[in-house]
Amino acid sequence: MSVLSVIVPCYNEEESVAIFYQELLKNEPFFAEKELELELIYVDDGSRDGTVAEVKKLHAQDERVHLVSFSRNFGKEAAMFAGLETSTGDYVVMMDVDLQDPPSLLPEMYEYIQQGYDSVATRRVSRKGEPPIRSFFARRFYGLMKKISKTEIMDGARDYRLMTRQMVDAILSMREYNRFTKGIFGWVGFNTKWLEYENVERAAGETKWNFWKLFMYSLDGIMAFSTAPLMLASVAGVVFCLIAFAMMVFIIVRKLIFGDPVDGWASQVCIMLMIGGIQFFCTGILGQYLAKTYMEVKNRPIYLVKEKI
Ligand code: UDP
Ligand code: MG
Repeated sequence: MSVLSVIVPCYNEEESVAIFYQELLKNEPFFAEKELELELIYVDDGSRDGTVAEVKKLHAQDERVHLVSFSRNFGKEAAMFAGLETSTGDYVVMMDVDLQDPPSLLPEMYEYIQQGYDSVATRRVSRKGEPPIRSFFARRFYGLMKKISKTEIMDGARDYRLMTRQMVDAILSMREYNRFTKGIFGWVGFNTKWLEYENVERAAGETKWNFWKLFMYSLDGIMAFSTAPLMLASVAGVVFCLIAFAMMVFIIVRKLIFGDPVDGWASQVCIMLMIGGIQFFCTGILGQYLAKTYMEVKNRPIYLVKEKI
């Protein structure tokens, strides 16, 4: 028998925990047919509601249910990492508890693993039910990442993914503190099969991400998998030197031919302000990378466990 670990990060999801369990167990005939033993790991990311109690209730009925509970909210990335570290399965799958990653896809995903793929990933091809402004920026983000990062990051990719133990171990070997899993999956490589599906809306509860959080997350992603922004300062420097040189030639020639008196105080102030602004902007980018490096160097644990069942 092989073991299939299902990792489910939960943050304030008391309504969804049991619904998810029922939905997952609809796959019971499939597990039996393929001789898969289930290991269901709920990772409680420091929830303040009854999530932990709900998981404990399930554990009392079914000992295949496990719980890893954090001492505080560490974020979904940390929760996924903890799940991977805890899992013992030959195959590991990560899913959201809100049923936006339909467990009914599992048999098909497993089929591809059997065919020899190392991982089967999912991406949503529609963003129905999502605010248009959010979809717009999401598209821009993936477009930009494609240009500035060598790591492949798929548009609309979900964290819903079935992997072999070999790939899980590769991911676990990446112990960086600033985790951007969508990039990590691409970075480790291996053969990946992509399944596409239409966006599904949340079964219960509400999303934990607002626009600002997503925006900051996208910046994390860019900085974790690209150093292109650091080039901006050099590029801006070269461009401004060229402009300055052209202007110097222009002014010298004009002076020699027409002998103009000094003029253009306003334009000078504007140019100074603009260059000052660009300098601060570039220093800011440097600062961001420095801050990320600082956090990595501290080498703090990615998460802290309060309780484990
Ligand atoms: N989640 C988490 N920690 C967080 C935020 C979210 O573990 O700090 C979990 C959440 O419980 C859910 C999954 O991550 O299982 C996806 O979150 P959500 O559905 O809010 O994101 P969306 O689907 O709206 O992008
Ligand atoms: Mg969701």
